Amino acid sequence: MLSIKEQLLLLYSAPFYLIIISIEILLTNVRLKTKNYTLKDTATNILLTLLNAGIDFGFKLVSMMVLGLVFMKSPFEDWKIGFSYWLALLIAEDFAYYWLHRFDHEVRFFWAVHVTHHSSQHFNFTTGFRSSVFEPLYRFVYFIPLAWFGFKPLDIVFMYSATQIWGTLVHTEMIGKLGWLEKIFVTPSHHRVHHASNPKYLDKNMGMFLIIWDKFFGTFQEELPEEEYAPIHYGLTKNLEKPNIIKLLFHEWHQIWKDATASDLTCNQRFNYIFGPPGYSHDGSRKTSDEMRAEEQVFLGEINGAIDATLLEPKMVSTKM
Ligand SMILES: [Zn+2]
Ligand SMILES: [Zn+2]
Repeated sequence: MLSIKEQLLLLYSAPFYLIIISIEILLTNVRLKTKNYTLKDTATNILLTLLNAGIDFGFKLVSMMVLGLVFMKSPFEDWKIGFSYWLALLIAEDFAYYWLHRFDHEVRFFWAVHVTHHSSQHFNFTTGFRSSVFEPLYRFVYFIPLAWFGFKPLDIVFMYSATQIWGTLVHTEMIGKLGWLEKIFVTPSHHRVHHASNPKYLDKNMGMFLIIWDKFFGTFQEELPEEEYAPIHYGLTKNLEKPNIIKLLFHEWHQIWKDATASDLTCNQRFNYIFGPPGYSHDGSRKTSDEMRAEEQVFLGEINGAIDATLLEPKMVSTKM
């Protein structure tokens, strides 16, 4: 169930992706002489996007029905479709996505879905395809207010797909900072921070198209020069050993099950293992992002400004998972 607009988007974006991925492979391998692509990582990224697309497609009937029912009850149904309609939809959809992404990071139940997107230790255009496979099962819930405000369900889904192209293109190390664009839009520099496992960078820059939401709601972090902070380490605070597709998709669910069903826990503790922040533990054996950040700040304070970049590597902290 794809609208004509969405089909055209897919038709034109696919060859474009192929071209820019080829250029990136060429540039990183030949010119920069770095190995930013591996066959296994790239194949995993593509497989995860195919699984995501399959679930998205299969579940579309349900999500469109829900959005359609809300749209029919909208008091704003007669909104004239024009420039202001599309601009308002762009801003509203991006705002809804910011909160979807933020809850994906801050609530373990949703982090268990989103963690796949962050599980690569490489960062290139194909990392953008490393989808949160099960996200289509609940993403539409964040778009319900948009349907109520009178945006057509097919237009909402089209806008999500359109901003997702931008969201994919920011997965690259080839592009540095982009001047004034950094103030308004999500850029590759912002998204490199988002994929970093360094404590200072955890759970930052959640926007897809506009960075203003992060600046407004306190989740913004600029990419810092290496003289000022450690180089970026991509991936999770504790990366999976011998990852395979099943582990990538279900390891966090498995861990949640083990944690929440352990003996001698209060109801509150069990609840926190499922819906608390990732890294929560009742006995302090693991650390949340905020705790890691606080630990790092103390550590940096202790060394009194004499920053040795190697001391800031993520291995110094406990796992977020
Ligand atoms: Zn994320
Ligand atoms: Zn990403």
